[in-house]
Amino acid sequence: MLQRRALRHALRIWLRRPASIIATMRKKGMPSHLPCPCGSGLAYAECCGAWHGGLAQGQFAPTPEALMRSRYSAYVLGLPNYLMATWHGSSSPGELDMQPLKWLGLEVRHAEQSGDAGVVEFVARFRPPHGGPAERLHELSRFVREQGQWFYIDGQPPSEQ
Ligand SMILES: [Zn+2]
Repeated sequence: MLQRRALRHALRIWLRRPASIIATMRKKGMPSHLPCPCGSGLAYAECCGAWHGGLAQGQFAPTPEALMRSRYSAYVLGLPNYLMATWHGSSSPGELDMQPLKWLGLEVRHAEQSGDAGVVEFVARFRPPHGGPAERLHELSRFVREQGQWFYIDGQPPSEQ
């Protein structure tokens, strides 16, 4: 219980101090040459790492799928600031209390873009915080592009489409 509280406290500090996240990643030696968490088969630095690191310089994920993948990787790596920065203002939760889930993998099933709108269907697998069998998040996510930057709007199960 205490451990959970300490974890939440740490996450809350991370939310407020983006620099400390970067420092933590550096300390951990974030392996930029290792395969990207999104499962693209590319190195992290050549995939989602480019968008995680490029956001501040105005280098944005170029497609809805690239943004979707980079957001998944941000969940894996614990980068709430990236998630908030790529969440559309109309649906943003304002603050993100990241659950300590263990993410197991991402499968992008379908991605399409029409002008400044995009939809990505994906399945993400994760293990709940308290253990137990792996669960699947199957979602159709909607994205919109404004001034050259893609944003996540929302998502719903495919059956409700
Ligand atoms: Zn990636």
